[in-house]
Amino acid sequence: MSIFNYNQNKNSGYFSRLSEALKGTKEDLAWKLKQVSGTAESRISEEQLEDIEEILIGADIGVTTASEIIDLIKEETRARRFITLSHCRRIIRQKLLEILVSPAEEIKNGTSSGEVPIPRVIMVVGVNGVGKTTTIGKLASLYKKKGNSVLMCASDTFRAAAVEQIDIWAKRTGCDIVKQAGGADPAAVLFDALAAAKSRGIDYLIADTAGRLHNKENLMQELDKMCRIAGREVSGAPHDIFLVLDATTGQNGLQQAREFSRVTGLSGVIVTKLDGTAKGGIIVSIVKELNVPVRYIGVGEKLEDLLEFDPEPFLESIIEAG
Ligand code: GDP
Ligand code: MG
Repeated sequence: MSIFNYNQNKNSGYFSRLSEALKGTKEDLAWKLKQVSGTAESRISEEQLEDIEEILIGADIGVTTASEIIDLIKEETRARRFITLSHCRRIIRQKLLEILVSPAEEIKNGTSSGEVPIPRVIMVVGVNGVGKTTTIGKLASLYKKKGNSVLMCASDTFRAAAVEQIDIWAKRTGCDIVKQAGGADPAAVLFDALAAAKSRGIDYLIADTAGRLHNKENLMQELDKMCRIAGREVSGAPHDIFLVLDATTGQNGLQQAREFSRVTGLSGVIVTKLDGTAKGGIIVSIVKELNVPVRYIGVGEKLEDLLEFDPEPFLESIIEAG
């Protein structure tokens, strides 16, 4: 069973928005799988299995996962003497579901106390251009719709334009913002924002961060410092650190994920720009590699283009039903 409200999502147009955003990935994966065999019920040969493995690797789900799936299919073939494409699809979906669900279950179990800290402090990290600031605007909008107050923190002070950009999102979503002039110390801006969030009784404090400082080591140290300050000012903070990755960068995104996973307390990944890419399978590689759940997916540039990630409809959208 899905941990999110799958049926409710499905009824509310969630599924059609998801399908639309994942059209590129589906066309790539499901369409190619269909080409392997004439009909869903025709038998798959050894040779066709190689084609399936190639298709899975091409879909960016990862070489190890692809070969594990092929081994499972071979096992089933030995047990039943033959296998159909529809059965292969079921095996693929089952394996991918296991990968996508396991860290999500861990997170769910880890926060089962039901207590919601106030303010809930969220840090958004990732390299330049992946969509951090845009995603903060979208997250703020989502939390506000659920009746929460949101304060944005303009801690990407490395580029002057970054402060202006988040300011625009704050105005657009009607959120308060704490900012200083470009070049200010990011941790100092966060410190002010934490104080403001506490005194105003804000529900969510969302902090933007720089995607690049003078070097990588510098950036990681700055993020660590921000985490320490957050923890000193608000118990348990940051409660979430979301790593934003751009789906269109494929394996490159995976390399970024490895580097950022050194930041302690990474609690989720947000994969952006799934609209208009055929590389949606990268989600599976990310989750497997980091053992961190995907929490949201970005499906466009507009405020409402952020969806909660739910493994089952995601897989249903990229692999046709058996
Ligand atoms: P940052 O440098 O990480 O803060 O990235 P920005 O938020 O400035 O976004 C960089 C670009 O990506 C902007 O042009 C955004 O409109 C665009 N973008 C962000 N998220 C998405 C998404 O989900 N889909 C698409 N198509 N574009 C996005
Ligand atoms: Mg930004």
